[in-house]
Amino acid sequence: MVPWSAPKAFFPSIRRFLSAVHSGRMQKVLMENPVEIPLLDNPLLILMHFGNESRFVTLFQSTWKRIPEDDRRLIGDYWSEAKPTRIPICELSNCWIDHAGKYGQCTANGYELRFDASAFLILPENVATFVIAHELAHVFQKAEGNCPGGANQQENEGDANFIAEKWKFDRIALLTLEAFVKLDGFEKACRTLSGDADGVSL
Ligand SMILES: [Zn+2]
Repeated sequence: MVPWSAPKAFFPSIRRFLSAVHSGRMQKVLMENPVEIPLLDNPLLILMHFGNESRFVTLFQSTWKRIPEDDRRLIGDYWSEAKPTRIPICELSNCWIDHAGKYGQCTANGYELRFDASAFLILPENVATFVIAHELAHVFQKAEGNCPGGANQQENEGDANFIAEKWKFDRIALLTLEAFVKLDGFEKACRTLSGDADGVSL
């Protein structure tokens, strides 16, 4: 294991990051320090990233604002309940296990969100916002006391999709991308659906 001392200012989430590395949940130790910034106000949610975060931050914040206010409040109250011992963390990186083919993940009872940093550089906007809304819907399930939101994993995922669609995010955009990815691969599919003429092959 590569020795790595995190600056004090990064605690406690860096401690959590390192514990994830040491427990084998991270694929590799990054030589760069992650940077933390408040993603939502004051600081309701911290983003841990390794650069290239600006598009993601814009997308995340616009997604959050589109969620009905009462539901946002419920999520915020849920996250706030655990403070100061636990701080909700959003990680934008390429180093979480099983991230291939998954653009986002919600774990630790809704206190840890992860998003695929390279995918979020090029995901079409309506897909990216649906993915973020889907992961926030998993937090909403917990905030509502539905943990998980169904009798099995499939029902839980279906329920998160249902919530995101109820918030008026576009699931069809994600399904369309997945179909295009099978035909053309991820990068070309993103270019095609983002309206980049170079990506059109059909
Ligand atoms: Zn899910």
